[in-house]
Amino acid sequence: MRLPVADTRTTTRQGLAFLKGHAGQLAVVVLVQSLAAVAALAMPWLLGRLVDSVATGTTAAEVDRTALWLVAAVVAQTLLAAWAHRASLVLGEQLFAELREDFLRTVTHLPLSTVERAGTGDLLGRTTNDIDRVQWVLRFGIPALLVGATTVALTYGAAFLVDWQVAIGLLVGLPLLWWSARRYLRKAMPAYLADSAAFADINGVVTENVEQAGTVDALSLGRQRRRRSDGAMADAWHWEVVTIWLRVHLFRSLELSFVLPLGAVVVWGAFLIENDLASIGAVTTVALYAMQVRAPFTELLMWIDELQVAAASLARIFGISLVEPDRTARDERPRGAELTARGVRYAYVEGKDVLHGIDLDLRPGERLAIVGPSGAGKSTFGRMLAGIHPPTGGSVTVGGVRLVDLPEEELRRQVALVTQEHHVFVGTLADNLRLADAGVDDAGMRRALDAVDALDWVDRLEDGLQTEVGSGSLELTPAQAQQLALARLVLLDPHTLVLDEATSLLDPRAARHLERSLSNVLAGRTVVAIAHRLHTAHDADRVAVVEGGRIVELGSHDELVAAGGEYAALWASWQQD
Ligand code: ADP
Repeated sequence: MRLPVADTRTTTRQGLAFLKGHAGQLAVVVLVQSLAAVAALAMPWLLGRLVDSVATGTTAAEVDRTALWLVAAVVAQTLLAAWAHRASLVLGEQLFAELREDFLRTVTHLPLSTVERAGTGDLLGRTTNDIDRVQWVLRFGIPALLVGATTVALTYGAAFLVDWQVAIGLLVGLPLLWWSARRYLRKAMPAYLADSAAFADINGVVTENVEQAGTVDALSLGRQRRRRSDGAMADAWHWEVVTIWLRVHLFRSLELSFVLPLGAVVVWGAFLIENDLASIGAVTTVALYAMQVRAPFTELLMWIDELQVAAASLARIFGISLVEPDRTARDERPRGAELTARGVRYAYVEGKDVLHGIDLDLRPGERLAIVGPSGAGKSTFGRMLAGIHPPTGGSVTVGGVRLVDLPEEELRRQVALVTQEHHVFVGTLADNLRLADAGVDDAGMRRALDAVDALDWVDRLEDGLQTEVGSGSLELTPAQAQQLALARLVLLDPHTLVLDEATSLLDPRAARHLERSLSNVLAGRTVVAIAHRLHTAHDADRVAVVEGGRIVELGSHDELVAAGGEYAALWASWQQD
């Protein structure tokens, strides 16, 4: 499964809506650029008049005056163009910043189940390659397009004003231009989309290979993975070649469609002069316009090309917002803190349930350990209890309201999942903590850090809470990173926690230290611990044994040992070890 890609209509609509917010700025850029273009157009016109007046006889003073006007036009054009350039760059930066922020907001609220199913490569490709491509166009392309389009339109207009008969010669290249651009634009979009997708595939394969290098080695998948990489690479190569050829063809026709009108104006102009239908000056002016239009035209087409690439990327970026939410929040508020699972089923792959209707009533404040063989469905059930995935059958409710009917922030105040995966975000320690509670002050952060035994090492840092952490700055140890994550939990303050392998990957010394931090966090909350070490089960109030997607035993440690079932057997064998 891949993440959706927006179709052309949606992309255009969203793109225009996006630009609409900046209509005023766009107007300023176009206006100032038009003035700059008019100043630039004055030069060939002045030269044309000079040619005519010299032909019919003129004075040196007249020539000097024209020269002065030329200098004035150059100065005006330079100043206005610089102003327009600056305004358009500012606009480009703002557009890009806004797009990036919107995108980030959407990505961070994507349903986890969709992201997991689509694989992270696709999403990663969109956040990196696609955003990069769009960034280039928004920052420099939109400005250049505005400049190019205004200049081209005004130049043609001016040529017709000077002498419409001569200017007809300019039209010679247009059919070729139109035809080749159209052909290109039609073929380019699908090719660039395929190109982007191929690169996303490479991203995915390489990321998987690197992240799971150990697994690849252990299962001797090297050859297979290499074949997969080679395949992805060959695909990307193919599309890269296709798109390059498309551009080569385009630029060849473009070259021709610029040379043609210049030749036409000169030959056609000579004929008109011969028959006294045009002046030498007018032909000079229009020929100069034919040459002058070339640069903005090429620039324009180059950016239309880039725009195609960006549109393909934009379709993938906007596509993210088309992901169906896996839940719709309603207005109900939980009445109480009891978590209840009723007939919970879940299937990762349609038709293949890994949970077969689990019922469970959690008592507020209790410690429940879930034990069972690997692959029994413990983690899956834990994710249901924490509201990460909506169950495919049955329901999980808190205080009578289904978890999936709660808005995200409300859900996290009720129940949170703690895993061994923790992430340190690039920013200050304070930034990392504020993710849980945007309004928390320094005192609140210090209390949270103190609660997880982390205040000591934070206070030893020179910049304290303002220390920059994450990749490229201070690297936290895994234990510190976990403490930071736990401090976030303290700030979030959910009444129920689901722990899944929260401390299992850490070295034993760190684990002991962390368990102290953890037990501080757990105090006073309902805790479901997916137990990989049986002593967790021994200390729990109740133990649920999960096998084959069902709870097969439920009771206190002593009761289950006395009952002599699965748990008793597990316990006996663990004690022998
Ligand atoms: P446990 O935590 O008890 O080891 P899990 O909940 O991780 O068990 O897995 C239960 C079943 O679901 C297993 O058969 C596992 O292969 C399958 N499973 C787990 N995660 C996924 C996934 N992301 N996609 C498909 N199947 C999965």
